[in-house]
Amino acid sequence: MKNLFTLLGLLVLSAPLLAQDMHCGTDGVMKAIYDKNPHLLQKKMAEDKKTQALQAKLIPNSTYVIPVVFHILHMDGPENISDDQVKDGLRILNRDFAKKNPDTTEIIPAFKNLADSMKIQFVLATKDPLGNCTNGIKHYYDPDTDWDENSPSLYSHTWDPTKYMNVYIVRKIIFNSGFGAAGYTYFPGTWPIGDSHDAIVVLNNYFGSIGTGSNFLSRVLTHEVGHWLDLYHVFGGTNGAGIDCSGDDYVNDTPTSLGYLNCPNPSVPSQYQICTPGVSENFQNYMDYSYCCRMFTPGQGQRMQLALQNNISGRDNLVSNANLVATGVINPNGDCVPIADFKFSRVKTCVGTAVTFTDASWNGQPTSYSWTFAGGTPASSTASVVTVTYNNAGNYSVIHSSSNSAGNSTPIGKANLIQVVSNTAQFSAPWSEGFENLSQLNTNWTTYSSSGSTKWEQSSDASYSGTYSAKLDASDNTRKNLTALVSPMVNVSAISNPHFTFKLAAAEVTTNHINNLKVSASIDCGDTWTVIYDKTGQNLVTTSKNNSDFVPLKSDWRTEIMSLQQIASATSATFKFEYKRDTIPAANNIYIDDINILTSTSLNDVNADENNIQIYPVPATDELNVLQKLKNPQDVTFTLRDLMGRELMTSTNYMEAGEQKKTMNLNQPAGIYFIHIKWEEGNYSQKLVISGQ
Ligand SMILES: [Zn+2]
Repeated sequence: MKNLFTLLGLLVLSAPLLAQDMHCGTDGVMKAIYDKNPHLLQKKMAEDKKTQALQAKLIPNSTYVIPVVFHILHMDGPENISDDQVKDGLRILNRDFAKKNPDTTEIIPAFKNLADSMKIQFVLATKDPLGNCTNGIKHYYDPDTDWDENSPSLYSHTWDPTKYMNVYIVRKIIFNSGFGAAGYTYFPGTWPIGDSHDAIVVLNNYFGSIGTGSNFLSRVLTHEVGHWLDLYHVFGGTNGAGIDCSGDDYVNDTPTSLGYLNCPNPSVPSQYQICTPGVSENFQNYMDYSYCCRMFTPGQGQRMQLALQNNISGRDNLVSNANLVATGVINPNGDCVPIADFKFSRVKTCVGTAVTFTDASWNGQPTSYSWTFAGGTPASSTASVVTVTYNNAGNYSVIHSSSNSAGNSTPIGKANLIQVVSNTAQFSAPWSEGFENLSQLNTNWTTYSSSGSTKWEQSSDASYSGTYSAKLDASDNTRKNLTALVSPMVNVSAISNPHFTFKLAAAEVTTNHINNLKVSASIDCGDTWTVIYDKTGQNLVTTSKNNSDFVPLKSDWRTEIMSLQQIASATSATFKFEYKRDTIPAANNIYIDDINILTSTSLNDVNADENNIQIYPVPATDELNVLQKLKNPQDVTFTLRDLMGRELMTSTNYMEAGEQKKTMNLNQPAGIYFIHIKWEEGNYSQKLVISGQ
């Protein structure tokens, strides 16, 4: 595939494994299907022989026209690409299929006369399956924008594939194998006629040349439509590019090819005459993986046209005159009534800080707009883009509608969409939160769930200390669901060397879950966030897998400690726990308790239990003993500080693995001190009373 490899060239430097695989997933998904259903492969091979025999006899159709619908799946991010980007992607597809791409001038002499127009044209549908007005571009808020082959709800938007070519535009494509793909589809005949899987999937940033797209990465759809119309890679369908010459694409005018993961030098034939001495290979074909693809051949055109004459997947119906009328390609509808939607620059903001709202209506091009901003300035607007400020803390709703000559959209309301908070800190460090006060989680804290279902809640099911903790219930198993718990504002600058600690208890149902917990800090009321903690899967869980409803024992809790050095001077900081379920089957419960923001010298007791540290006697007199279990032999540093944090004595000792004892001669007047212990895997502080001798 063209251009993918321009990106690959960059990626290889940092992530060779990812880069290697970032092209087309079609062979991978087809192989998985053939492995399970070998008879399908037999059927396909028989079909391919028939097709090849027919190719030479085919008289090309004047031009086939295919109705197209694009399904944009998004979660309110940049993956919700504009209709202009979709139209640009469609323009590139039609340009390449009609051989109107200007880079045909770069085709090497051996193939110059072989580059051909495919006489196949793609046109946006203007009637949906029910005959309603559409512009052929649909936008859906749908977590399947992270397109994961494990998700049971993929392809849920497909329109009858015997009437429309369906193209899904998504944010990610995730295969169990870890193989990364920019797009994929299935060959005709893979699925029963009319099956929703008979569709093409492409990443939004590999589509079109504007918006999130780019010229370099814009030809994935050209390649995938080739597969969808029965073209193999020029190096064959059962082999990767660059491996050997055994593959066949069943096209008579494309020479046997090794397949190219990068672009050979056109002036060095030995770089692309590998399989047959003296015979150049068509590394510039759209169905290769090289980044310099420029052409299809007449033989490929014949094969694609035969696919459109074949009823094996109902492709013959697509191009029928009756279907072109039914889908509004012939006698198209005019502009449709818009379906209102909008984008927003942020959902949490400080009093007085602007939020930008942008119309994102679809289905029809709006010519006028209407907004109502509860609590905002302005309170209403008729512009397409509006900047709004809020003067008081609170949660505010937005209502939007749009219209054009075809009619008015149904207004869309998003209740409590914008959370405006005072940028005056409610609390000052040292600060702690044990979730003991019922009103606090509801008032001081904000909870959020992308699925709108279960959120973090105060729970008496388990706690590290006191009676309550914050719990996210396992019954919320919406895949990809993102749940957030956001703290009140805290003045971190009130203490020196601030640290953030919390207790965590997390178990999963199986050991291969990849759920993720992040903690982030914001010093601008939640506009931008800095990640201070990020653990996934087995790094996150605090105990072994648990098939029942997880309620932690005391020993199941773990202490997490992060320095807040980066935001030490913040007079107003907020903290966000974000838990993302990426789990099949069901996840289990997760708990948080005893959040502290404190100075490093008073990390009292925060991690004593799991480090198996014992300090005695308490109170101490002239001698102090520290017992500690070490995983590995290493240096351990013991430091005694006074209440002001001043270092009174320190010593570093090499200690063996296992339980080790250190005895310190204190020689200090009676008073309150801190003992701090630092080793490779962690550190620990405890308040220490010295009673005098
Ligand atoms: Zn491919």
